[in-house]
Amino acid sequence: MRYIRYGCGMVLVMCMAVVTALPAAALTLEAPGKVARGDAFLVSVMSNTPLRSVTFSWFGKKHRIAAVPVNMGGQARPRGVSGRHTQWRASILLPVPLDCKESGQNLTAAAQVEYAADAAAAAPIVKHVAFYDKKRPVQKLNVDKKFVTPPADQAARIKADRERVRAALAKRLTEHCWALPFHRPVPDRGVSSLFGLKRVFNGQPRGVHKGLDLRAPQGQAVTACADGIVALAGDLYYSGNAVYINHGEGVFTSYLHLSKILVREGQRVRRGETVGLVGATGRVTGPHLHLSLIVQGESVDPQPFLAAQPKPVEKKHERQN
Ligand SMILES: [Zn+2]
Repeated sequence: MRYIRYGCGMVLVMCMAVVTALPAAALTLEAPGKVARGDAFLVSVMSNTPLRSVTFSWFGKKHRIAAVPVNMGGQARPRGVSGRHTQWRASILLPVPLDCKESGQNLTAAAQVEYAADAAAAAPIVKHVAFYDKKRPVQKLNVDKKFVTPPADQAARIKADRERVRAALAKRLTEHCWALPFHRPVPDRGVSSLFGLKRVFNGQPRGVHKGLDLRAPQGQAVTACADGIVALAGDLYYSGNAVYINHGEGVFTSYLHLSKILVREGQRVRRGETVGLVGATGRVTGPHLHLSLIVQGESVDPQPFLAAQPKPVEKKHERQN
C-alpha cells in the first residue's frame, strides 16, 4: 500500500518483482544426502502443479511412480477430487545394495506433468546420495550339516526354489499398498540376528544374512507388515515355510521358517493380518521369524522401517538364521 504514493508505474514494477521472485520450478525432492549400504531410503517428489507420474532413475534403472494429489498436510486424497490447497506427490523406496562399491550415486527425478504448459516448470531434479558402511560383524552358527553342504539330490530342488522366488519378486504391482512405518510382524521381544551379518555355518563362510531375525516363540502369529498380495506361499529348502507379500511399486516383504502358512498365493492381505505361525522350518537353529524386505530387487535392512514398540521381555536363548 505504501507504494501508491510513487504512482501506478511503481506499483506495477513492484508486482513484477514479486512474481519473478517466485520459484520457477514447482517441484521439490526430498531424499537423504547419505545412506548406508544395505539400507533403503524414502524419496518423495512434491509439486504444486498437477503431475501424472514421476520417473526416478537410480543405479541405471528407471522406476515410474504414479503421482497422487495430497492435501497440504500430506494426506492423500482420491484422484479426481480437486481442492484449493492441493499438491501432488510421488514416493518410492530405493535401495543401496549391501555389496555396491560406489561411493555414491546421482538420483534423478523427472516429472510427467498433467498439462503441457507446466512442463518447463517441472524440470528434472538431480541429487547426489553418498554411501557409507555400517558395522557388519561375523556370526558363527551351528546348523544341521545338510544345510551347509546340501545333499546332491537336493540341488535341483534348491535351483527350482531360487527360480520360484525370482519369479515371485518379478511380479509387477503398480498399486501403492505400503505405508511407513511398517507394522511389526511379531510382538517386540528383540532381535536375535541383524541384517548384513557375515555368516559362518559350522565353520564355513556362507555369505551374509539378508534379513532380520526377530525373537518369537513357536506358534506366535505372524502378521503382514503392510497391505499387499501374497506373491509366494510354500515350502523352500533353506527358508522352510515361506510367505512373500508384494506391497506394490517394487516393495516386498518375506516371512520365513514358519510352522504353518495361513494364506495362499494371489490372496490380498491387510496390514496386521495373520499370514502364518512362527516355526523352525528350513535352515535354523530354533524358532524365530526371519523377516526380509526386498526393494526394487535388492534385499535391504527392514529394521529402520519397523514401527517401534515398547521394549522388551526376558532375554532368551539366541535363536537365529
Ligand atoms: Zn534370518
